[in-house]
Amino acid sequence: MNTADKIKELAKAYAPDTVQVRRHIHANPELSFEEYNTAAYVKQTLESSGITSETMAETGLVAVIKGRNPEKKTIALRADLDALPIVEANEVDYRSKTEGVMHACGHDVHTASLLGAARILQELRDTFEGTIKLVFQPGEEKFPGGASIMIKEGVLQNPAPESIIGQHVFPLLPAGKVGFRSGMYMASADEIYITVKGKGGHAAMPEMNIDPVLISAHLIVALQQIVSRHASPKIPTVLSFGKIEAKGATNVIPNEVKIEGTFRTMNEVWRKDAHQKIKKLAEGLCESMGGSCEIDIKNGYPFLQNDPELTGRARAAAELYLGEENVVDLDLWMGAEDFAYYSQEVPACFYRLGTRNEARGIISGVHTPTFDIDEAALETSIGLMAFVALQELNA
Ligand SMILES: [Zn+2]
Ligand SMILES: [Zn+2]
Repeated sequence: MNTADKIKELAKAYAPDTVQVRRHIHANPELSFEEYNTAAYVKQTLESSGITSETMAETGLVAVIKGRNPEKKTIALRADLDALPIVEANEVDYRSKTEGVMHACGHDVHTASLLGAARILQELRDTFEGTIKLVFQPGEEKFPGGASIMIKEGVLQNPAPESIIGQHVFPLLPAGKVGFRSGMYMASADEIYITVKGKGGHAAMPEMNIDPVLISAHLIVALQQIVSRHASPKIPTVLSFGKIEAKGATNVIPNEVKIEGTFRTMNEVWRKDAHQKIKKLAEGLCESMGGSCEIDIKNGYPFLQNDPELTGRARAAAELYLGEENVVDLDLWMGAEDFAYYSQEVPACFYRLGTRNEARGIISGVHTPTFDIDEAALETSIGLMAFVALQELNA
């Protein structure tokens, strides 16, 4: 029997257990960097497959599966453990038992899938050469991101993986299908906080004041030229301001205005350059209008780059395993994801797992109270992840 068929057989056999594992994690969600019970459950589940693990980043875990000749090559597979502060609205048996906390981004699915894939790989360890590193990281949803802490604590060393592969649920794609994108895939996301300072007073006497509301209005318009005139058209860039607060009144000009927004792009050099341009323009414009400003740009996750060669091989493996008709190309995605940290360090591939089932009404987006998946996707995900890993070890 060839490897794909052998894995398909194991994926089918282990799918029911994987559903139970996913439901257990779903029913017992924990917030970012508080995943103590989830980590203990992952540890115990790995042990039941004969895999020992070590704690990393306080609530994360790392483990290895050694094939024959383990030094030959190491690759890493990654899952994330955390849930979100959302009240679950699904009426299902496995509904969250913790009010106000919910696995609404599918990290329960990623963790259960990696556990299932690990069980398959452990079973097949005499049939392949190399080492597979299993990375269960905490805190994807919260800055600074568990990935950055795992990297600082050495997850990409001893043994150093040549590449890292991760998957994420995708409710726009039907269960049974997966999506890939080579190169730029997800955006860096930085938070911008601006305080425009003027001099408040009676709105009837503008000559006595320096109006921070008018300055802010100009500033918001002017800053869009960073995107339209300075960003290369080849680099996706977004600058959005979602909050502006001037605590004046119909007849009161306030002393200051607070503006908050997000800057997203897909190039690290341009990202740094843009931050400087935003600061310079804001300071210069405020000064030219008689006011001043304080500007703070908080760096979020970097942009996510899918290594073209690795992604090409993973996509080809997926076509072999699932059939060409079940593998699609993904669009750019201006959301952010801390898997991007790994992609800045080693060749990385982050692909999407279809979880939608229109007929059963499973269509809600991630981060919504009604997000759920078609659990048929789990058989696909555990088998595909194991198959992609073995193909990559052989590449
Ligand atoms: Zn999320
Ligand atoms: Zn997520």
